[in-house]
Amino acid sequence: MARDISKYTHEEMDKVAGITHSTHRTKIVATVGPACDSYEGLLSLVKAGVNIFRLNFSHGTHENKAEVIRHIRAINKTEPYNIAILADLQGPKLRVGEIENGALPIATGDIITFQSNQKVVGTKDSIYVSYPNLHEDVEVGNKILIDDGKIEVIVREITAAGEVKVEVTYGGILLPKKGVNLPDTKISLPALTEKDLIDLDFILGQNVDWIALSFVRRAEDIVDLKRRIKDANSMSKVIAKIEMPSALTDLRNIIIESDGVMVARGDLGVELPVEKVPMAQRDIIRKCIHRAKPVIVATQMMESMMDRVKPNRSEITDVANAVLEGADAVMLSGETAAGNHPTLVVETMRKIILEVERTEYRYNREEDLRPQPHSPSFLSDAVCYNACKLANDTKSNALIGMTQSGYTAFMLSSYRPKSPLFIFTKERSLVNQLSLSWGVRAFFYDEEESIDDIIADQMTILKKRGFIKTGDVVVNTGSVPIHLHLPTNMLKISRVDD
Ligand code: PGA
Ligand code: MN
Repeated sequence: MARDISKYTHEEMDKVAGITHSTHRTKIVATVGPACDSYEGLLSLVKAGVNIFRLNFSHGTHENKAEVIRHIRAINKTEPYNIAILADLQGPKLRVGEIENGALPIATGDIITFQSNQKVVGTKDSIYVSYPNLHEDVEVGNKILIDDGKIEVIVREITAAGEVKVEVTYGGILLPKKGVNLPDTKISLPALTEKDLIDLDFILGQNVDWIALSFVRRAEDIVDLKRRIKDANSMSKVIAKIEMPSALTDLRNIIIESDGVMVARGDLGVELPVEKVPMAQRDIIRKCIHRAKPVIVATQMMESMMDRVKPNRSEITDVANAVLEGADAVMLSGETAAGNHPTLVVETMRKIILEVERTEYRYNREEDLRPQPHSPSFLSDAVCYNACKLANDTKSNALIGMTQSGYTAFMLSSYRPKSPLFIFTKERSLVNQLSLSWGVRAFFYDEEESIDDIIADQMTILKKRGFIKTGDVVVNTGSVPIHLHLPTNMLKISRVDD
């Protein structure tokens, strides 16, 4: 007798949402803010193509974040989506304090003074910077950049009283609370500030899918965060935001220790000479794909749509290039958080992604991603690699994987297979987490009697939900004997029955 698998299908939900099953494979991350943080606002973005919402802990209150999380959970419950939540910790971000009259004109050649002893309202005589060791860590000749590098100064003198006198090399209007970057200085602040620890406590209580850490400097920063997550018995996965030169130096280890990576071009473009950002982006993406770690390209992708209805031509090409480079996801920041056209931005981004993915010029690095014999996961990597090859060769209508740790899903995704990729897992936390991975559509499934039944069920579920039909070719990976929960060791190809 056939088992009841109705708990795994959501045919009615699919119909209500009018879901189209051919969708963008490069995922879309949208930052939540006042422009979209109602239930309707978030749902509208989801319907336009958002896969992951980012909650930026540099702004807003915990109450507001908790409400947004409730809305996203409600959407996942009543609509056929698995939207992931990404909590983004501010990290050791430096800022200036309040400024007299809300703006202070600064001219090239001026000498101004920074200090971190007292939270004063800033004037030319004394401007507060939120960095207790400023005078100890900077050296004469170091560059300091303010407000995304709009204002640039050079350290000229460090006084005994702990003041840092700087000469302005590019002037501008200094506004309150603007970010400060010190590309030449080794910053001694801890990776997780006091604010981050308070935010992390809240985040761990909310059980979010991904936690990003800003201004990662070395792999230990990630190890530290992961230890705290583990100690709290949380399943949250960690994203390292690459936005400092020191992170590029330790990139290999950071990628190994992290579950995912973000190319945070906003701060990276301040910390590095701007012309170095494009090749850094390429290099980070390539290395992440090699290690089967999801990678997000972030910041200013559709910036001009903050107030306009059409993006700049350069932005269209930027999104397209990120897709061609093989990014798992592209991200929107102010565009969805505070812009005038949040839904339109997502729709436009999705159209650009779909158009690139539709062409035959598809990202495919199979050849240089051959499984490595020295890797501890060599055999299961080889099964995944060959599953993707087999699916491509037979133009399969579905490539189906099973995972408990997530590894097989990340691995199959990293080959960027042409066939639609479906992942079944009994690990509930993975279902949403995998929304970040290129091309992955994940399903909860927890039967474990026989591999034959499991594969039959997976086909039935996909068929009922309209992803495959009778006669389609399907490639399955799995692991046998089923009760031993071994890494992926099995490959099967078949046609969908009546
Ligand atoms: P942020 O990070 O938006 O939190 O600054 C992204 C970036 O710097 O690009
Ligand atoms: Mn940043």
